[in-house]
Amino acid sequence: MPEPTPVHPDALAQIRALEPAQRPLIICDVDEVILHMIKHLEAFLAGQNLTFLCHEYRLTGNIAEVGASAPLKELKVKKLLQNFFDEICHQQELVEGASEALSGLAENWDIVLLTNLPGGHNKPAREALLRQFGVPFPVVTNEGPKGGAVAALASHSTGPVVFIDDSPSNHASVNASLPASTQVQFIADERFKASMTKADHVALLTSDWQQTSAFIGSILQREAG
Ligand SMILES: [Mg+2]
Repeated sequence: MPEPTPVHPDALAQIRALEPAQRPLIICDVDEVILHMIKHLEAFLAGQNLTFLCHEYRLTGNIAEVGASAPLKELKVKKLLQNFFDEICHQQELVEGASEALSGLAENWDIVLLTNLPGGHNKPAREALLRQFGVPFPVVTNEGPKGGAVAALASHSTGPVVFIDDSPSNHASVNASLPASTQVQFIADERFKASMTKADHVALLTSDWQQTSAFIGSILQREAG
């Protein structure tokens, strides 16, 4: 299990600028959870004669030239992702049901979006796109494992905390920093979801917003009962 990680200073500054959560808190990722990412990335890669080597959940070590078996080096992947987000972050498609589910949950929960968006300069474009889709919640941009930021966001919350993210490394990090949170692993892409084994600290592995919303709703019913 990873050690708890400190929160990135830029993320901490954004978290301190938010109103502290007064109600139960949902901390939700954006890429591959609220906005599609993998399908856009595949199209972007294909345009450069690149492809995924397999549907295992990682980017570094998993992108190669079509027909090649050796993956691109980490630095090349980092640069590729930066270019990808610069190009795509204002036109990503909404994951089906995300906007309705979050609007319904917002009746009883405070919601903060915690996203590892490469390049802080893309935050306004992401916020504008999310607002356009009816997802008007505060956005915090982070770098690296999310455990520190999740613990900081939850530090004033007295009720239950739910963390929603696609990445297994973010879930491991949140389990290390805030093990009391309820962790939902949401992966919109069915192929990548099918290749994922649910970790013990993950309460629900899903690619369905209706299921996610019903599951999270039942947490408050349990608390009330
Ligand atoms: Mg994500």
